[in-house]
Amino acid sequence: MKARLVPGRPRDERRLHPWIYHGEIAEITGNPAPGDILDVIDARGRFVGRGYWNPASQIAVRILTRDEGVAIDREFFRRRLEAALAYRVLVVEDTNAFRLVNAEADFLPGLIVDRYAGHLVIQTLTLGMERYKETVVDLLVEMLSPAGIYERNDVGVRELEGLPLTKGVLYGTCPEEVPFVEHGLSFWADIVNGQKTGFFLDQRENRRAVAPYARGGRVLDCFCYTGGFTIHAAAAGAVEVVAVDVSAHALRLASRQATANAVAGRCRFVEANAFDYLRTLAKAGECFDLVILDPPSFTKAKEAVPGALRGYKEINLRALKLLPPGGYLVTCSCSYHVTEDLFLAVVAAAAHDARRELRLVELRRQAKDHPMLLAAPETYYLKCAIFQVF
Ligand code: SAH
Repeated sequence: MKARLVPGRPRDERRLHPWIYHGEIAEITGNPAPGDILDVIDARGRFVGRGYWNPASQIAVRILTRDEGVAIDREFFRRRLEAALAYRVLVVEDTNAFRLVNAEADFLPGLIVDRYAGHLVIQTLTLGMERYKETVVDLLVEMLSPAGIYERNDVGVRELEGLPLTKGVLYGTCPEEVPFVEHGLSFWADIVNGQKTGFFLDQRENRRAVAPYARGGRVLDCFCYTGGFTIHAAAAGAVEVVAVDVSAHALRLASRQATANAVAGRCRFVEANAFDYLRTLAKAGECFDLVILDPPSFTKAKEAVPGALRGYKEINLRALKLLPPGGYLVTCSCSYHVTEDLFLAVVAAAAHDARRELRLVELRRQAKDHPMLLAAPETYYLKCAIFQVF
């Protein structure tokens, strides 16, 4: 079965992109069923790659291999999973929780596998990958002997692939909360009801990078979720950490984690809308030495970018009003559509309005266990800028 591309396939740099859109395909031969493997060839018949097909998705084919001699079978998945693990052994430090498979960036489009100590959480986000779920689970059991594997397929993107939303145990036994250790600190991943697969692993290296700026100061952690940055800041020696989130559920776990790490006495958790709370703090004349802003994605679509930029500008402006000269602002964006350039421009605009100067200390991205493909900008989504404020 083959998909032949239109001549002069759109943009050159896209040739190594793992996604092929319907508009790029001139002809399909062999009558593939949804989810089947097919070969992609260029207009002149040369092999481009082999991947899975889904006529119901905007992305018609996702490439699994560029090697014509490679069959997509159990051995293929074994090699891919082993390579993913070997890479993590090299780049992941000082934790037993990390992303083992990061979909396209591990050449396994649609597959996410996160490891929390002895447990794994998996997501199969596409129809093509859903078909290999059992194979993947089997191989993971063979390779890692986990105590349990949990499926978090309750994510909206599956609907774009015509897949149902579901979650549950796929193998062994899984507690609701899985304990793990990050940088010597104790956490629980809320694998059943938490966001993502239970914890924001992508911010791990940033949590460590930010901790030193908290030492001896007063910290505000906005959008704290279960307290990842909060606990790191407190453990690094912050005098006080005020942590804000709208989710009471997340805050309950945050507070337990503070206790487990013996920093509860220096952490205060506030259930509030961060936009409003930042304003309240400014009105009350409150002052912090470090403010962390890690909001949820303000946009999942290109069309909503202007609204997202207004949101970023507002929280950054409000945060700047709480910082004395010499203080630190850590500001993040996980919206893929808000590029690094756009994000920095909006922070600069906030600084301009606040009449403050910003010195860029570090510009960071997602942790190395969430690798990025140069040819697929969609795989680069998290920005984390550390500024000193004057
Ligand atoms: N920094 C966290 C992850 C933050 S995720 C970590 O390292 O683990 C974003 C969080 O923002 C979620 O917990 C969500 O509940 C919260 N949130 C979303 N909208 C909010 C709002 N308007 N005010 C406060 N919190 C909000």
